Amino acid sequence: MSKNDDSLTELFDKEGNQIGVLISADLWAQIKPHIKQFIPSEAPKERPEPIKDWEILKEYWDFPYPVDTDVHCEHCGTRTENWETDTPRKFKLASCNLGGLVSFKCQQCNARIVKKHFKNEITVECTPYIDEKSKNMEARY
Ligand SMILES: [Zn+2]
Repeated sequence: MSKNDDSLTELFDKEGNQIGVLISADLWAQIKPHIKQFIPSEAPKERPEPIKDWEILKEYWDFPYPVDTDVHCEHCGTRTENWETDTPRKFKLASCNLGGLVSFKCQQCNARIVKKHFKNEITVECTPYIDEKSKNMEARY
C-alpha cells in the first residue's frame, strides 16, 4: 500500500454509497489552506479578557469602598478571593465597564457571574450556562 492510500480513505455506507472521506492529519494540513472557503467556519475563538477595561475601572474607581476582587459562583460553588491572581484562572473576565458592571465566566461550569457596583452596595448575579442551541427548550428556574 502506498503512502497516499494511507492518507486518504474513502468511506462508504453498507449500501455502497460514499459518505465521506477520511484524510490523515498530515494530508489535511497540506490541503486545508487551499480549501478554506469551502469549510464551515470554525467555532469562534473565545474573546480575550478585556483586562484593559478592568485596569481603567480600577484607575477611576470612585466607589466608597475598595476595589473588590472576590468572585463566587453560586452554581458550582467555585470561589476566589482574587480572580486576578489565580493560576490557572477560576474566573475569566468577560466584560467590564466604567459604570462598575463587571462580568466573569466561571471556568468550572461556564456560568456567568455579573457584579454590579453601586454607591452603597455590590450586587451579584449568577446565571448558569445554557447552550445557545438548547436555550429554547431549557426550562427557566
Ligand atoms: Zn461555576
